[in-house]
Amino acid sequence: MFQKKKFVAAKKVTAPTLAPTATKQEEGEGEGSPSKYPELLRGFRDILSDEQGRWNLVRDTVRKFAEAYSFDRVELPILERADLFLRTLGKGTDVVEKEMYIFTDPSNRSVALRPEATASAARAYINHGMLDRPQPVKMWYMGPMFRHDRPQAGRYRQFNQVGFESFGVDEAIVDAQLIVIGVQMFREMGLDVKVEINSIGTSECRTAYLAELVSYFRAHRAKLSEDDKRRLQKNPLRILDSKEEATRELLKEAPQMLNWLDEKSKEHFMKVLEFLEEMEIPYVLNPYLVRGLDYYTHTVFEFVLAEDQGELSQSALGGGGRYDGLVELLGGRPTPACGFAIGIERIVKALEVKGINPPERPAPKVFFAQLGDASRRVGLKLFEEFRKAGVPIAEAFGKNSLKSQLENANKLGVELTLILGQKEVLDGTIIIRDMESGGQEIVDVKKVVALVLRKLAREEEPVIPSGSAVASS
Ligand code: AMP
Repeated sequence: MFQKKKFVAAKKVTAPTLAPTATKQEEGEGEGSPSKYPELLRGFRDILSDEQGRWNLVRDTVRKFAEAYSFDRVELPILERADLFLRTLGKGTDVVEKEMYIFTDPSNRSVALRPEATASAARAYINHGMLDRPQPVKMWYMGPMFRHDRPQAGRYRQFNQVGFESFGVDEAIVDAQLIVIGVQMFREMGLDVKVEINSIGTSECRTAYLAELVSYFRAHRAKLSEDDKRRLQKNPLRILDSKEEATRELLKEAPQMLNWLDEKSKEHFMKVLEFLEEMEIPYVLNPYLVRGLDYYTHTVFEFVLAEDQGELSQSALGGGGRYDGLVELLGGRPTPACGFAIGIERIVKALEVKGINPPERPAPKVFFAQLGDASRRVGLKLFEEFRKAGVPIAEAFGKNSLKSQLENANKLGVELTLILGQKEVLDGTIIIRDMESGGQEIVDVKKVVALVLRKLAREEEPVIPSGSAVASS
């Protein structure tokens, strides 16, 4: 016999080999207290149906743009060899230092939940010999990414990105077209964005610039926080996006990357800006924009909400740039490339704040009310017929009384309710009830789908006021 076991709270399990610098407290936050019910991990969330309308808007818009601009869909794995990210994203980046979900798999291999997908796209480009296809090779993807960051508004540990990547062409128009695609996608969804843009040149001109930047900050070392001192030593470019007040003050007088660009990099950047102007894409030069990852070269950009949406306005909806060295870094032939990724959760939030909330699915216009198993059986078949006719239909199979089923139908706001009692089953008929007027008619059950379709079509016809020009012509 089933015996009720006493519930024993599971012992706190230590997190998998997480980022080396993640503190115990962060790992356990919100997850340590035993609860009667299973709980979500911190920074993870369920996306329920009330958000699905907005999610669909993002998914559908992205798909339309990808098709229009001839990008091919790729599905990339969520789990990769950890090395893929450790090699490409860069030492001293937050993602590698603190945020990677790294663990050892049962084959004793070090693996990681992907924190982003550009490195995977470049790996796929090499693995599948795409270097030998006509260039550019254009891919897009959509799916979850994982970063063990401190959760806060708009920042989760599992979040979803859509990415567009173009491999094989170094022309400035590629960068510009990707930016145009991003901006137009946001506009199509109802969001106005501006582009923040910068160039970080080639690795050669960056080296010269970094030497200058480091010597500038060394002279002001005393004013830097411990974090920024560490950045200065490990990855000085990252000091440009420091949030520390004192550092931001110092940055005003700091050397700027744009002045260190070589002629070719400067020319490339100017061309990108000209193309954007041609397309009337609003952009702002942001000399401090470097993006978090090491593989970027030349153009880097972010999409930021143009309208003030409070906290949301401070974080980018997406970003990207050129990464000409990435394929080579992974062992492929030198291949120029450029791409961007946008975060679905942040877009969905911005849509919510703007009050954009398309319905998740068409609301049912018809309700099926049954009285007993014989009518439930007919109901099963009717549901299939209505599905084939494209008419969404609702039910309450668990209820037996007509009254409470009609209450359900009322709450759902359907236009018609089909009532099937025992008598109707025997007669081969069914009742159609107009929920607004309360009028009912008995019809042949075989004809009910066609009749419902006709009635619904009539409801949708525009009402033309008598005496109007159209009516009298
Ligand atoms: P990144 O790869 O960091 O440039 O991120 C590109 C976009 O992904 C950002 O602009 C955000 O919209 C989104 N994103 C990045 N990290 C997170 C996160 N932790 N939670 C939610 N969205 C994120």
